[in-house]
Amino acid sequence: MKDNNCIFCKIANGEIPSSTLYEDEMVRVILDISPASKGHALILPKEHYANLYEISDEMASHVIKTAKKMAKKMQEELGSEGLNVLQNNGELAGQTVFHYHMHLIPRYQGDKVNMKWENGKLSESSKEELVKKLSL
Ligand code: 5GP
Ligand code: ZN
Repeated sequence: MKDNNCIFCKIANGEIPSSTLYEDEMVRVILDISPASKGHALILPKEHYANLYEISDEMASHVIKTAKKMAKKMQEELGSEGLNVLQNNGELAGQTVFHYHMHLIPRYQGDKVNMKWENGKLSESSKEELVKKLSL
């Protein structure tokens, strides 16, 4: 399903031109218009899913397989020394385009990418509670 008001549906399906690095029947990989680093790319499903909560299992596995292929290509061609794979869900988590997408952010010595957060401490009580609540 496509969403007529969604810019990433239009880009993924070729209705709006983009710098495409890879395309198959399920996804399109494009360069991010405001890159965090050289080669910053986005994997867009051609179907509309707002986020990880909605995406099909089949699409989720295709996206990660595509990420793996692109990661190798980036390493070979750009000489990047690391890669951050990032996927935001919800406004609070930094999502700005509400069509599922995965960021591939190649990393270089001295780049300006910042993915740091303050580490907390996992207390015994919270560990117990979380294991109880989140065990699948
Ligand atoms: P989010 O913050 O939702 O995880 O990421 C959205 C990403 O999409 C941002 O990194 C932003 O630069 C990128 N973006 C937004 N609009 C466009 C566009 O029209 N074309 C491309 N190539 N990237 C876009
Ligand atoms: Zn969409």
